[in-house]
Amino acid sequence: MMLKAKKIVIAIDGFSSCGKSTLAKQLAKELNYTFVDSGAMYRAITLYFLREHINWNHTKEVNMALQEIALDFEMNDQTGNSDILLNDENIESFIRDMLVSEKVSDVAAIKEVREFAVVQQQKMGKKKGIVMDGRDIGTTVFPDAELKIFVTADPDVRVERRFKELYEKNHNISIEDVKENLEMRDYMDSNREVSPLRKADDAIVLDNTNLTREEQLKLALKWVKERSA
Ligand code: C5P
Repeated sequence: MMLKAKKIVIAIDGFSSCGKSTLAKQLAKELNYTFVDSGAMYRAITLYFLREHINWNHTKEVNMALQEIALDFEMNDQTGNSDILLNDENIESFIRDMLVSEKVSDVAAIKEVREFAVVQQQKMGKKKGIVMDGRDIGTTVFPDAELKIFVTADPDVRVERRFKELYEKNHNISIEDVKENLEMRDYMDSNREVSPLRKADDAIVLDNTNLTREEQLKLALKWVKERSA
């Protein structure tokens, strides 16, 4: 008799533009798991703060603003991915703008913002069968995840990948802007006080600089199989 594979929690962390979301989406599709882009949640909160001119250096203002924010994910049948909703508005096309990218690491460093996001992320993982990517998934959100992957890639390759992605939508963007933003976010994410980006002790490092998408998926699926038997 074939035993049904156990559903697990997969945590994927790493620096900006390492291909974490690509891998997470591939795995979710292959395993029929729920994919959650935790970065989209921090981006959505940042977009709200920018739109509403919230002064995020004031804790009281932050707390009041967070009470007004409802985040949800909704399947987009055209792309096959799940889009993020901010108070029922689909904001997927705004959250990767440079305006948001320039401020998101500031906002994501705020303790109250992290608590707000982490509670919701942990709720989503209760039923297992989830793959979530971010910066603190293996260390803070799901410290007991059955599989933790820390993705890395050569910095120049990362800049090029993100530049290509953004240039398709906005021809005014320069490679220098992208490089500066990635370096700034990596620095801020790694050096903040609350849940800084770091590899969990039990995470497997996946350097995908020279791997195709298919090769990285194959490797990760092997690790999933080992942990869900
Ligand atoms: O993954 P993405 O690049 O979209 O994340 C945007 C930003 O959100 C990161 O640079 C980081 O500041 C923040 N983030 C975080 N913790 C997570 C996911 C994202 O602090 N789990």
